[in-house]
Amino acid sequence: MIMAKLTFLGAINDIGASGLMLEVGGGNIGKRFVFDYGSDVQEVPQRFPAAVKGSVDAAFLSHAHLDHCGGIALLSKRNSFPIYSQPITRPITDMLLEDSLKIARNDGIQLPFTHEDVHRALKHFAPMEYKQPVALGKAKNEKLTAVAYDAGHVPGSMMTFVDFGLERSEAERTKRFGNMMYTGDFNTDSTRLLSRADTALPEVDALVMESTYAKRDHPDREEEEKRLVRMVEATIDDGGIALIANFALGRTQEVMMILNRHGIDYPLYMDGMSRKATTIINSYPRLLRDPTEFDKALRKIRYINNEQDRKRAIKEPCAVLTTSGMLNGGPIVWYVRQMYDDPRCSLILTGFQVDGSAGRTLLDTGRFVSEDVRNKLNLRVRMEVSRMDFSSHCGRKQLFDFVEHVKPRRIFCVHGEDTPAFAAELKAKGFDAVAPTANSRAFDI
Ligand SMILES: [Zn+2]
Ligand SMILES: [Zn+2]
Repeated sequence: MIMAKLTFLGAINDIGASGLMLEVGGGNIGKRFVFDYGSDVQEVPQRFPAAVKGSVDAAFLSHAHLDHCGGIALLSKRNSFPIYSQPITRPITDMLLEDSLKIARNDGIQLPFTHEDVHRALKHFAPMEYKQPVALGKAKNEKLTAVAYDAGHVPGSMMTFVDFGLERSEAERTKRFGNMMYTGDFNTDSTRLLSRADTALPEVDALVMESTYAKRDHPDREEEEKRLVRMVEATIDDGGIALIANFALGRTQEVMMILNRHGIDYPLYMDGMSRKATTIINSYPRLLRDPTEFDKALRKIRYINNEQDRKRAIKEPCAVLTTSGMLNGGPIVWYVRQMYDDPRCSLILTGFQVDGSAGRTLLDTGRFVSEDVRNKLNLRVRMEVSRMDFSSHCGRKQLFDFVEHVKPRRIFCVHGEDTPAFAAELKAKGFDAVAPTANSRAFDI
């Protein structure tokens, strides 16, 4: 008989350090798969998912955001197994992990993995294409397969469906689950950059889903775009500089395309990892909703390569796209330091601000606090600060619509700030929903 078990390793009732293990087996033949192994960079030193003891047969990376891929070099440190992802996830993960090592080195912090570990992990990356099943070997059956569906969240993001290879008759007789799907981060609405997540999915038994925005609907996208454009243009008309803080992968390019759609007649710069990620995405045009539009927008961008470029750029009114999205380090800190006291300048946060991040603190207190060892700051910011919502996650409505559409037999809610509340709401609507907790994190399915 085929048995399956899910163990939740991280991002149980928070956002950060995602990790999930699936064990599938019959008799004493078992296979173990890990889905995402991220890090929580809000904590210093960064926190990783629960340790995986024993062997792993394969890992799957849903996408290259640190909360999903930041611990992969740690997971694969003593173990050799294929790490399946979309091809673009590899170079972006490489960039992010090398950056994590650099930041740790600068801060005098030892990470539990080295440059060599990153290098070894990268060697084990195995490309997976959307909707092309991958055979996962024999767990008493030959039909154990994984299929990736486009998650619509960032270039190369995937929802992973695993078919345990159970015969229908056996499934019906034993009432066991025959498959599971892990959404990773996903978005069922199209954005300027990406087409929405695939919704033509097979029947899903166990659905492990993110719930970042379970409590909130997103504002009207068109209105939000206009607000951004108005703010950038007003700042530049005032003789100021518009600093736009983005996540490197996805958000930077989305904002670039929004600005371009409304016409860019001012200098627009891109700095740091935003620039690097954009260069990588540019070599995977088929992942984009409209590669021609992307190309047009990219031609308006001026890249900043060093501090000299930076100093030159801010001599005249302009807009700058850079990282980090939550103001925890990256070139944005340099810019804020130059401009925090100038009310003509503005700082626009375009992404989710996790509790404890410098961005959240700034929104709550009006102060920019940096705990960076070499760069401790505590500044009262006089620039105009706004948070805008160009989310690449489902909003509340989209999450519920997705569940109604997929109608899974059981839902496991993860990656949210209050997953028990989300599970309770789903239950009230008649679904079998669970929010794993630290004390109850393993489930036979
Ligand atoms: Zn993400
Ligand atoms: Zn995430």
